[in-house]
Amino acid sequence: MTFEKIPYKIYLSEQEMPKAWYNVRADMKTKPAPLLNPGTGEAMGFEDLRPVFCNELICQELDNDTREIPIPAEIRDFYKMYRPSPLVRAYCLEEKLQTPAKIYYKFEGNNTSGSHKLNSAIAQAYYAKQQGLKGVTTETGAGQWGTALSMACAYLGLDCKVYMVKVSYEQKPFRREVMRTYGAAVTPSPSMETEIGKKILQEHPGTTGSLGCAISEAVEAAATNPGYRYVLGSVLNQVLLHQSIIGLETKAALDKYGVVPDIIIGCAGGGSNLGGLISPFMGEKLRGEKDYRIIAVEPASCPSFTRGRFAYDFCDTGMVCPLAKMYTLGSGFIPSANHAGGLRYHGMSPVLSQLYHDGYMEAVSVEQTKVFEAAEAFARVEGILPAPESSHAIRVAIDEAIKCKETGEEKTIVFGLTGTGYFDMVAYEKFHNGEMTDYIPTDAELQQSFDKLPQVPGLD
Ligand SMILES: *Cc1c(COP(=O)(O)O)cnc(C)c1O
Repeated sequence: MTFEKIPYKIYLSEQEMPKAWYNVRADMKTKPAPLLNPGTGEAMGFEDLRPVFCNELICQELDNDTREIPIPAEIRDFYKMYRPSPLVRAYCLEEKLQTPAKIYYKFEGNNTSGSHKLNSAIAQAYYAKQQGLKGVTTETGAGQWGTALSMACAYLGLDCKVYMVKVSYEQKPFRREVMRTYGAAVTPSPSMETEIGKKILQEHPGTTGSLGCAISEAVEAAATNPGYRYVLGSVLNQVLLHQSIIGLETKAALDKYGVVPDIIIGCAGGGSNLGGLISPFMGEKLRGEKDYRIIAVEPASCPSFTRGRFAYDFCDTGMVCPLAKMYTLGSGFIPSANHAGGLRYHGMSPVLSQLYHDGYMEAVSVEQTKVFEAAEAFARVEGILPAPESSHAIRVAIDEAIKCKETGEEKTIVFGLTGTGYFDMVAYEKFHNGEMTDYIPTDAELQQSFDKLPQVPGLD
């Protein structure tokens, strides 16, 4: 069979867009471990989660068996505003690297929020609206998730309350203003608005906050305000489910041209884009139909997969959230202050953690100066200014393509380009000025954090 030359950009038509999300848990022999109540050590069921999360989203969170979950028509219509996202053949990068490898990337930065996070934001806001809620609360670090959620809430007429990590609130005023443009109320975290915020401020006056701490505040705000629920932009099973749209579109586009990837690469913060990108491919792998090399890329300064423990841990610093079994650096772990490359979360999606633990995927960590080198090289040939997070995947895609050059292998590499970096120019500036440094935590530092992992009643 011969195919026409593969276009620079493979788009799907509206008719070809996926009508259902794919739930990879249905094909996992070992299911991800359940969320536990930190007080009792019992698995959390629907009723336990109801005060915090939206009902339909809890059902999705707990559903380990339904393979396909229909995407409601309203969400599919919203997706049409910015999807399908292009699958780009990186001809220019291949040329520049002089590699026989064939490189593709799925670009999720084609919407105002600038990342893949909108895929789950609209789904979560939709189910909140359906339930008749007034609004949702959340945390945001760099601001992509808060922006995505603000856009989704504005579209559906929901209130949106965002606790933004204080250091980002101060350093990224433009992100903050984008969120306010879409009607969100943005509070720097830790704040005096919540009990947990007051407590953290009392114990650590002058702290610039962390994602884990902002999560604690947002959860408290949802639990104490009638008509509000908490939503989270990564880590959870439901978020991976919504993000499966990325992988389903990627697979449909590749199938159109008979392309089968050898290696699939994605950056991993909480694991949502990677989980979504690999879902349908992982499904084939789990069912024994095909094999792929799947690589998660994380920062050397926040190496949850490569140096973390597979254990039950809190999802937040304030220890108010349920316990999740995941690769974790400990909920008190905060990456070194010089780390500018994003992906700073201490834990990892329980789904990906289980798959990694069972040997279905690999993980590598990379230093941020190497990440920004790759980002710049990519921007200069492919045009897109990548987010630092996404550039972790670019780094490893380039490394794998260079290996192909050395061995002469014509491998097909697909990576996730999760977003654009327009709001990350301070980090780029540091890189250009030669002021960016790498910091790799020592074993002793990690051990200190592991020592504080919770003892789970009934498990030890
Ligand atoms: C949030 C974000 C990530 C990391 O989150 P995951 O849940 O691991 O996907 C990666 N890239 C961009 C652009 C992001 O905004």
